[in-house]
Amino acid sequence: MVIDAEVEKKEIIARYRRLLRKAKPILNEGDARLIKRAFTIAMEAHKDMRRKSGEPYIFHPLSVAEICVEEIGLGTTSIIAALLHDVVEDTDIQLKDLERIFGNKIARIIDGLTKIRGVFEYGTSAQAENFRKMLFTLSEDVRVILIKLADRLHNMRTLDSMPRNKQLRVSSETIYLYAPLAHRLGLNAIKTELEDLYLRFTDYAVYREIADKIDDTRASRNKFIKQFVQPVKEELDKLNIEYEIKSRPKSIFSIYNKMRKQNIPFEEVYDLFAVRLILETPLEQEKSYCWQVYSIVTDYYTPNPDRLRDWISTPKGNGYESLHTTVMAKNGQWVEVQIRTRRMDEIAEKGYAAHWKYKDTNATHESNLEKWLVRVRELLEKQDLSALEFVDDFRGNLFNEEVFVFTPKGELKTLPNGATALDFAFDIHTDIGAKCIGAKVNQKLVPINHTLKNGDQIEILTSSKQKANEDWLRFVISPKAKSKIKELLKEDKRNLVEEGKELLARKLKQLKIDANSQVFEQMRAYFNVNSQFDLHYRVGKGTITLNDLKRFKDFKPSSPLKTRPLEQVDVKAIEQEIKAKGRQEDTLLIGEDMDVVEYKLAKCCTPIPGDDVFGFVTVNEGIKIHRTTCPNATELLANHGNRVIKAKWTSQHEVAFLTGLKVIGTDRVGLINDVSKVISEELKVNMSSLSFKTDQGIFSGEIMLYVNDTRHLEMLIDKLEKVEGVVKVTRFDSRAA
Ligand code: MN
Repeated sequence: MVIDAEVEKKEIIARYRRLLRKAKPILNEGDARLIKRAFTIAMEAHKDMRRKSGEPYIFHPLSVAEICVEEIGLGTTSIIAALLHDVVEDTDIQLKDLERIFGNKIARIIDGLTKIRGVFEYGTSAQAENFRKMLFTLSEDVRVILIKLADRLHNMRTLDSMPRNKQLRVSSETIYLYAPLAHRLGLNAIKTELEDLYLRFTDYAVYREIADKIDDTRASRNKFIKQFVQPVKEELDKLNIEYEIKSRPKSIFSIYNKMRKQNIPFEEVYDLFAVRLILETPLEQEKSYCWQVYSIVTDYYTPNPDRLRDWISTPKGNGYESLHTTVMAKNGQWVEVQIRTRRMDEIAEKGYAAHWKYKDTNATHESNLEKWLVRVRELLEKQDLSALEFVDDFRGNLFNEEVFVFTPKGELKTLPNGATALDFAFDIHTDIGAKCIGAKVNQKLVPINHTLKNGDQIEILTSSKQKANEDWLRFVISPKAKSKIKELLKEDKRNLVEEGKELLARKLKQLKIDANSQVFEQMRAYFNVNSQFDLHYRVGKGTITLNDLKRFKDFKPSSPLKTRPLEQVDVKAIEQEIKAKGRQEDTLLIGEDMDVVEYKLAKCCTPIPGDDVFGFVTVNEGIKIHRTTCPNATELLANHGNRVIKAKWTSQHEVAFLTGLKVIGTDRVGLINDVSKVISEELKVNMSSLSFKTDQGIFSGEIMLYVNDTRHLEMLIDKLEKVEGVVKVTRFDSRAA
């Protein structure tokens, strides 16, 4: 590549000027000077660095700063921090230098954006550790996470030039943590783009297909919308307020989710788009105007009573306000109509930062976000959580669907959707939760695992004899209840361990066994426990008894005790060995390379040749090959990206691979016979199992069979769909029920 330094320099300056232009309306006196200083430092620090795409590195911080201004609505402090966000991590400049120039606040933000250096223990997750560190700063200053989201967005937009395993890792992290986080902070536009990009990099074929279909249907959709809004528009004009009508198709990712969840093709997704009516009203009259417009819309079109959503009276936890209804158009099609004011629309798109702008007018919703931050802080203060546990709990805090319920005194409580009576009890107080034995929901007695619905009024029943147990963790869903129950159980466990410790000492004495460390080591092996802690626990709990200890005393190990270290597979070492075989790439070839390392195809997603796959180094079972669309892939890649190894199929086709098909159709005599005939006789495919269910004339079947690759599978699906009575044949992702 030929680089023209002069051209490049001009481009850098042009981009810097564009940033300033966009920031101009929000700059105070002296701000421009500070921004220039930050830019100069960043440019100098990164001057010899390039991005994977070959571009000068400084393009990246410039873009991140621009996203902060334009798409999130942040100010000078954030622009400076964004320009400098990679400086400490990647160059010689130290935090204290930046602190001297820009002060403590900006230095703290940059610190939050800087990854932890160093090595992590095997089995822990560097990604999780870094995420936790970032959130520590978040709890002091929300801008850390907003800038981080801008950083992530730009990295996703430019992910094309990254190697495949990095694409998978970054995309998975994005869908696992950053998109939900953007959602939680109300940054809808960014959340949507992150999700779409995730799909683009993990399943390009599907992404392309949906994107193309959205394009193809544009003209007819626009025509339909025009006709649909025409009568409404005439009435709106009479109201004497400014308004705007927008209509956008749903995001590619949300359409994809619908297709997947309901197992339907694109053409059957009925709510492909929503019509949005944005009103310019005085603040005091927002609510009445919105309902007035609702009344206009429903004068022309019949609403579906089950789909009225009033997030104006009770906004969502992330601050979202809007009035939604789904109405029947004249052609028999359901259309979602969203009614909101300009202010609500801005908050819905830009989220947290827009809240600041409307801060005075919006006290209650501000406090909803405040409450969430308080919860995050509480989580962070819990020292005994591992980083992975923390990330898991934190994710639990992000999910946004909520249920609104009431205390006996009529106080409103917001809980995650699906919450149970026990969640509610823990929300009121830990002691109430710990002693909860049941509840009265709307005066009716229900068990503690009863799922709550909107509007329920709940009275908790307690007993001093009640004790938390493991079982509770299976049905509570709020992070608060979960972590409190875990704490209670840990406390119980600690008590048992203490008891067990004393008990064991006494019993060993009784049996005249000398309690030295060698004996403990032998006991550990004999009883197959991981630690002394576990040993004491099991004695305390009574699962290791005096008789067991007697047997241990009489037991003579035939060979010296073996200590079994965890089999540690090192990704770098494997890549090196593959390369040593004289190939250009360090990609694992499935079908070959068995000599280098042992690998197995994952059972959860049954990959076959043609699928996009990656290798994952497990702790005990060597390498597992997963599909990039595997239900488990996201979690693996998001937390343990460093254990991912690139993998692809060799071109050899003689081998057959196990995969699963789901067949749905209308029941008729002889159908099962016809289906299995197509499989085994016509196509000569081996079946490993076949199970059918019939329910009121509808049959559904699951077939596990051996195929060569995805093309082979598609041909098979084609043939099966031609069998009379068969309505749909799909490959299923997971055998897990
Ligand atoms: Mn960056």
